[in-house]
Amino acid sequence: MSLNFKNFIKLVDQRNPNEPEFLQAVTEVVEDLIPYVIEHRSDFIDLKILERMVEPERVVSFRVAWLDDKHQIQVNRGYRVQMNSAIGPYKGGLRFAPDVNLSILKFLAFEQVFKNSLTGIPIGGGKGGSDFDPKGKSDTEIMRFCQSFMTELQRHIGPETDVPAGDIGVGTREIGYLFGQYKRLQNNFTGVLTGKGIQWGGSYIRPEATGYGLLYFVQCILDYNNESIEGKTVAISGAGNVAYYAAEKAIQLGAKVITLSNSQGTIYDKDGFTIEKLIYLGTLGRDLAKYAKKYPATASYHAKENPWQFKCDIALPCATQNEINEADAKKLVKNGCTIVAEGANMPSTAEAIKVYHQAKIHFGPGKAANAGGVAVSGLEMSQNAIGQQWSPEKVDHRLKLIMENIHKTCVRFGKEPNGYVNYLKGANIGGFIKVAEAMKAQGV
Ligand code: GLU
Repeated sequence: MSLNFKNFIKLVDQRNPNEPEFLQAVTEVVEDLIPYVIEHRSDFIDLKILERMVEPERVVSFRVAWLDDKHQIQVNRGYRVQMNSAIGPYKGGLRFAPDVNLSILKFLAFEQVFKNSLTGIPIGGGKGGSDFDPKGKSDTEIMRFCQSFMTELQRHIGPETDVPAGDIGVGTREIGYLFGQYKRLQNNFTGVLTGKGIQWGGSYIRPEATGYGLLYFVQCILDYNNESIEGKTVAISGAGNVAYYAAEKAIQLGAKVITLSNSQGTIYDKDGFTIEKLIYLGTLGRDLAKYAKKYPATASYHAKENPWQFKCDIALPCATQNEINEADAKKLVKNGCTIVAEGANMPSTAEAIKVYHQAKIHFGPGKAANAGGVAVSGLEMSQNAIGQQWSPEKVDHRLKLIMENIHKTCVRFGKEPNGYVNYLKGANIGGFIKVAEAMKAQGV
């Protein structure tokens, strides 16, 4: 049976019209997988494993009606994409943001399948969310929205079926409201969601996990090249959980973190943030510009600009998809950046990735570099299943081991004859094989 890249992408495009993000994620994966299966695994071609993997096992879309504080009825759309359960229950976050649509959730769910497989924990891939915009909403509005969202979602999930968590716009507060509603409706206190509060079934280090894991992965890249993070200049985008804890860990490890950003602009500090400055930044909410007013001697605020113009050794995009385009990538390379590791999901466009690979800089794709978040979610599921809570030290230690193993897998499958490690290829193939073997074993 023949398998051809161009025809495959054409088919995916035809079957999923107007889904650019999903097509981008699929292209990024099958570019590596098609040559691999042609050379090594004709059994996977015969079994149409790739064709099956790009079709979600199930997609649910539902109405979320809720009452705002003015007693007006608001209507949003909720989704859960259950992409692949070959190696475990569906697992992946919920995103609440106005741009959420099926294309974005399918790309995220697809990425999640490979990422979750790479963690070594038996969890499948899924993603969900809503076009609800949490910005400017009161706490009670957030609660009523979460309750209405869960009233429908609860029938599709369960601790052994599908275990959602947070993503953009969904943090511990939202998980609390969602969990409370699930418990009310099901009369069941169970590990159906991860990212729970520490007093009610959550895991230590879960809030920090994506950012810390990202830095552990960067350390692996540096170790592999006999380098150290100490004294390296780091540019970070985003100002949410991932960016914040990535900055914290980078500072603790002796790096100089010079930027954070949000959709309004970038804060740059030429001396680098200290932990104290970072804590202050954490109190500012969306108003990052205030930071430059407090530290005028070293800091400046750049409205409507991203961090990629600033000279750095390491770039950590931790905001959202497609935040680094070709021109940004060229700027980074020109200014001497040698590592780009993704805290966000698919923050680099396809053209930007080409620039990294051509320049032979080290590129840690999100599905490998940001897997620490879902990995600790997996550890939270284990703790819930055995009714225990592990110490922060134990969770952090396991997170580090998981990131080291992911790095090893990337090197194993991504090392080119000239020694350069194509981490994207390594992550794609390493994540794929396990899922494909499981699909093969479980029949059509
Ligand atoms: N949203 C995170 C991710 O993109 C975490 C998902 C989870 O913990 O299930 O991997």
